[in-house]
Amino acid sequence: MIAVVKMGTPKKQIDNLISWISSQGVMVHLSEGEYQTVLGLIGDTSKIDVDLLEGLEIIDSVKRISEPFKSANRKFHPDDTVVDVGGVKIGGGNFALIAGPCSVETEAQIIEVSRRVKEAGASLLRGGAFKPRTSPYDFQGLKAEGIELLSEAKRETGMPIVTEIMDVNHLPLFENVDMIQVGARNMQNFELLKELGRTKKPILLKRGLANTLKEFLMSAEYIMAGGNEQVVLCERGIRTFETYTRNTLDLSAVPMLHELTHLPVVVDPSHACGIARMVKPLALAAAAVGADGLMIEVHNDPMHALCDGAQSLTPEQFADVSARVKGVLAAVHQ
Ligand code: PEP
Ligand code: MN
Repeated sequence: MIAVVKMGTPKKQIDNLISWISSQGVMVHLSEGEYQTVLGLIGDTSKIDVDLLEGLEIIDSVKRISEPFKSANRKFHPDDTVVDVGGVKIGGGNFALIAGPCSVETEAQIIEVSRRVKEAGASLLRGGAFKPRTSPYDFQGLKAEGIELLSEAKRETGMPIVTEIMDVNHLPLFENVDMIQVGARNMQNFELLKELGRTKKPILLKRGLANTLKEFLMSAEYIMAGGNEQVVLCERGIRTFETYTRNTLDLSAVPMLHELTHLPVVVDPSHACGIARMVKPLALAAAAVGADGLMIEVHNDPMHALCDGAQSLTPEQFADVSARVKGVLAAVHQ
């Protein structure tokens, strides 16, 4: 249930109302926007007398909502959330380019890639240290050493770092990581999501391989319910019957998610198609359809990459995509 408070209501009266609602066993999420203050009532709202609430002098309107995601719901929180990752803002008109290799391989590789993507306009550095691979015989990542190398690249370039967590027990290793990625395969690892909800780190939540947008938002809700509202959603392609591309990029997810939630939405065209030459057109399309950022895999030597070389751009190709994305953003915001 949401209750819109009349403009100009003194804070004291809003606080009194929140205490009264809370005393009935219902949690209240307060959203103070530029134009509106909205109270999101979370939990069993059946005990709340809607007529009584609506009749209060300070209440503008009350609406029951049916969506099971409350904290992520735009109805509760009309303004876009802006997530700050080590000084880099994502959402609410702030577009972020996240770039780097699929996995951190060597010191020379991550330092070179980070320098090159930064020069080309990337604001955040990605790189996998713990890699979720389909085969147990494939390269599994450098693990703790990979995070160390990412931190070194951060010291060199000043770029905040994004890397994937696969196990709750690894959380202490992520202390210097600026944004923790939850990969597609862990989107519904609820114990991991709950633990991340207790952290203060921004989370990059990737959509599961075969998950609906409602399930995606419920996973974001798990993190937010724990008190961490710094969540960025990432559309990275879903499984369909198509086999020419690795996945099928669901671009319609971007405007639909923007309607449903206030959380920023970024697009990963690399994992969506799996083919380097397709990354540019998909990246431009994602920018045109309103994404708040892009996550793109870039490698200094894609032919010899230990993971996902086929979809990795060279730094030159990334520089071209970055420049063209700027053009698209300028055109759509005209
Ligand atoms: C990744 O970003 O490196 C990755 C493994 O992506 P996904 O979880 O989307 O497959
Ligand atoms: Mn990858």
